[in-house]
Amino acid sequence: MRIGICPGSFDPVTNGHIDIFERASKLVDQLIVAVSTNPNKHSLFTMEERADMIRQSVKHIPNIQVDYQEGLLNAYVKSKDSHVIIRGLRALSDFEYEFQRALFAKQLDDDIETIFIMTNNKYSFLSSTGIRELARFHGNLEGLVPNIVKEALHKKFDESL
Ligand code: ADP
Repeated sequence: MRIGICPGSFDPVTNGHIDIFERASKLVDQLIVAVSTNPNKHSLFTMEERADMIRQSVKHIPNIQVDYQEGLLNAYVKSKDSHVIIRGLRALSDFEYEFQRALFAKQLDDDIETIFIMTNNKYSFLSSTGIRELARFHGNLEGLVPNIVKEALHKKFDESL
């Protein structure tokens, strides 16, 4: 069975991420979305909140599972009997960071492969950071995030629906 791991902070998950999950799920038998702690980022939502919002938003994808990942990604990938990391790529600005991460992973374990899926044109501008900013200033989130995320953001920033 081919298992793919989609790691990320997903703080919060956006329609850009969901699009990557839908496409990645067709490349593997089982896709595990691994919600990770990023020690360099202060998160808006807890890991549990982030995972729960993903679970609610991917019910239409049959072969997907949502899990938590802490510590070394490679160790996590291997613990799941996988050797495939799948990441989304938006723009040239993502490239350097992703390139370095992928080479690092490969340096540590030669059998781990990172696969990149090019962003959907519709979502190339979309980032969790942008969404958090937009929500903070009560901008229109329609079409950018799943409804459950929209509601959670409204609640977080104390705005009625
Ligand atoms: P991280 O903190 O690990 O970068 P993110 O939650 O920001 O986690 O992103 C997880 C993955 O999803 C990354 O590979 C990122 O490049 C990708 N991604 C984020 N937004 C989009 C988008 N709009 N289209 C395609 N890929 C995206």
